[in-house]
Amino acid sequence: RLYNEVIELKGNIRVFCRCRPLNRDEVANGSSSLVDIDPSHENELQIICSDSSRKQFKFDHVFGPHDNQEAVFAQTSSVVTSVVDGFNVCIFAYGQTGTGKTFTMEGTPENRGVNYRTLEELFRISKERNSTMRYELLVSMLEVYNEKIRDLLVENSDQPLKKLEVKQSAEGTQEVPGLVEACVHSTDEVWELLRTGSRNRSVGSTNANELSSRSHCLLRVTVKGDNLVNGQRTKSHLWLVDLAGSERVGKIEIEGERLKESQFINKSLSALGDVISALASKTSHIPYRNSKLTHLLQSSLGGDCKTLMFVQISPSASDLGETLCSLNFATRVR
Ligand code: ADP
Ligand code: MG
Repeated sequence: RLYNEVIELKGNIRVFCRCRPLNRDEVANGSSSLVDIDPSHENELQIICSDSSRKQFKFDHVFGPHDNQEAVFAQTSSVVTSVVDGFNVCIFAYGQTGTGKTFTMEGTPENRGVNYRTLEELFRISKERNSTMRYELLVSMLEVYNEKIRDLLVENSDQPLKKLEVKQSAEGTQEVPGLVEACVHSTDEVWELLRTGSRNRSVGSTNANELSSRSHCLLRVTVKGDNLVNGQRTKSHLWLVDLAGSERVGKIEIEGERLKESQFINKSLSALGDVISALASKTSHIPYRNSKLTHLLQSSLGGDCKTLMFVQISPSASDLGETLCSLNFATRVR
């Protein structure tokens, strides 16, 4: 409860920045980091530009190369778990390919990310409250690729993935009829499901990494609450979104399919930026209908819903242009 008072004061939109460490190749090439993070100022960073001038950016929190998955989740858990109190929540990872979006959300078997830790925490809370509440957790996983929505939890992955549409329900909320919802009871079941979903993502692509950077991957957790004392029922959604890479593709190297993909990605990421900045500035018209992504998330963006955006960046000099683009995007939504 205390947390909800805190977030009310701060508003419902928060932006975190996470900078990955220099990778092995960058270290071997003798690259130094252009990102300066002072640990005593945990909500700002400076970019050292080529003329040695510095540009400062402020966030709700900045995570540097030494901040591990636990440290990130410690700042994230209160937002994600407010879903059990009946709030709809969206968490996004935004940034250039290779900056750690998937690392933050999915993580690796040794360094599990926000998705898994969230489910673990939701199981813990539901156990803790079991004298007064019954919670049911349902998981769906889908992908938005070239403005088409595909279900990633279909059983038979030899079949082409089922195409889905967003429909408005009688209550006026956005629903996805036919989407698989798997009821989960343990973290092991969740880990298995996440793996199935990731496998289904790469179908039809010769290079899984390629395709995954060109589509948005969304994990939806539905929490149904049943109050055993007063009979009140709640249902809320938590969306955990690993966005397509935000990088601009060089004009010369793109043609045909790649050009189409990159136009769809630009369109949906700018639609997302437009929606979040409209919400942040409390404008009355919110342009949800400009992309499949924002339309899909309409019922979970705005109102008393909570939004958290991770802006992922690289410390490397060779990525400076993209890093500045991502930081400017973040400034626009904040
Ligand atoms: P993206 O999904 O944005 O394309 P990835 O999550 O695949 O990027 O990250 C690219 C590589 O960098 C991966 O090998 C990943 O494990 C590594 N990486 C990213 N962020 C971190 C981090 N904070 N700490 C350690 N390794 C990281
Ligand atoms: Mg990725």
